[in-house]
Amino acid sequence: MGLGHTDVVDADVVVIGAGALGLSAALHCALAGRSVVVVERHTAGSQASGRAAGLFKSVQADELRTRLARRSIERAVSFAAWAGVPLEVSRSGSFLIARTAQHRDYLRRELAQSQGWGADVREAVPGMVAERVSYYRAAGEEFALWCPEDVYIAEPIDLIRAYLAACRLRGVVVAENEPVIGIPVAGGRVTGVETADRAIAAPVVVDAAGGWVRQVAELAGAPVPLAPVRHQLLITGPEPEIDPADPIVRVVDAAVYLRPARAGLMAGGFETDPLPVDPRRQPPSFTTDDLPLDLAVLRKLAAQVSAEAPAAATAPVAEHRGGLFTMSPDGRFVAGPVPDVPGLWVASGCNGSGFSSSPALGEALAAWITTGTAPVGVAALSPGRFGALSDDTLVTHGLWQYAHYYDPAPGLPER
Ligand SMILES: Cc1cc2nc3c(=O)[nH]c(=O)nc-3n(C[C@H](O)[C@H](O)[C@H](O)COP(=O)(O)OP(=O)(O)OC[C@H]3O[C@@H](n4cnc5c(N)ncnc54)[C@H](O)[C@@H]3O)c2cc1C
Repeated sequence: MGLGHTDVVDADVVVIGAGALGLSAALHCALAGRSVVVVERHTAGSQASGRAAGLFKSVQADELRTRLARRSIERAVSFAAWAGVPLEVSRSGSFLIARTAQHRDYLRRELAQSQGWGADVREAVPGMVAERVSYYRAAGEEFALWCPEDVYIAEPIDLIRAYLAACRLRGVVVAENEPVIGIPVAGGRVTGVETADRAIAAPVVVDAAGGWVRQVAELAGAPVPLAPVRHQLLITGPEPEIDPADPIVRVVDAAVYLRPARAGLMAGGFETDPLPVDPRRQPPSFTTDDLPLDLAVLRKLAAQVSAEAPAAATAPVAEHRGGLFTMSPDGRFVAGPVPDVPGLWVASGCNGSGFSSSPALGEALAAWITTGTAPVGVAALSPGRFGALSDDTLVTHGLWQYAHYYDPAPGLPER
């Protein structure tokens, strides 16, 4: 469905949520010449996006995600050129490390796949990890992939600020501290959004409300199949031996990631028994600040790499933060038009990669919205692909996807 310009509207597109996905979709719609309003319940980037680790990863589980991830890296490092706003990106590269035979085989498969999909990934030569990473004491026997394309944004809020500035350059209106409380539907189509103080008329409404995406879609009577799950990371205090120019390290058998941060070390990971959190079952005021954090989860994950990266396991913690991933049953983004509710679109299903995929995902979604045609392959992310699923099934599958973030082993329970 392309945009019609015959109706009287306040904007061509209203985006609900000023996280990475909403702002990228808004920016790309504006770049395509559309008038855009973003309505944010709190402040831009205040929920998942501003708390992310900021990691971009070129090795992905399928070709479409590889394409989106690599396009996003390209757009992040060239942000100033196309968006007109500077953005600092650490072009560190990353190592993927396996310490078990099973995970070595898994990485070998990922190497072959990713190379086939065009990613620059190589087997690290022996000694390369020890030589390149000050904070990781490699035993010398591990198998590692070197991913030179990988980058990170040291302070994730910088990407949000850059999106905001680029949006404003193109006339996007970003309204903060203004929750959307209604999505009216007339004649079978959404007609805009309502907040406490006003109605904004628009033929296209994009639900990019992150962990709140389901309850926002329900304002228009639409089910969206996602399960929010907690994710956490820590940053240690300054550690003199950590070189801030070091690469990212991901230890796949431990499901742990590490990178330099604020002269210390950032450590995060994926526990096998993650915590689902449904904001619909929380008080209406629930925000990420109310999410219970549990440092013991991170310490347990970090203990698995204590021989190699002792700082992650034992150094004093300077910051401990967390937020909600939106997990989908198949681990892929949920982006596109909502079935049976014309005019309503979703930009979500981050599955833990929404920050880093936001440049390309927002670009693809905006192309779909403004031309009426999904870019090649992107229709596969459509929110209608799952059919009706119970909440229990959504949570079971979402937790499974979370626990297998680095290691999508067979064994997903039947839907
Ligand atoms: C600790 C942590 C580490 C992470 N690390 C990485 C990483 O390294 N790389 C990566 O790619 N991803 C990472 N992620 C995931 C990443 O943060 C998310 O995928 C991404 O931020 C999702 O963006 P979003 O725009 O969908 O959600 P959000 O950033 O949560 O934005 C949604 C916005 O919608 C607003 N909203 C909700 N309801 C309403 C309403 N009714 N009206 C108006 N606005 C509303 C919210 O206030 C919020 O600002 C991490 C996440 C966490 C928690």
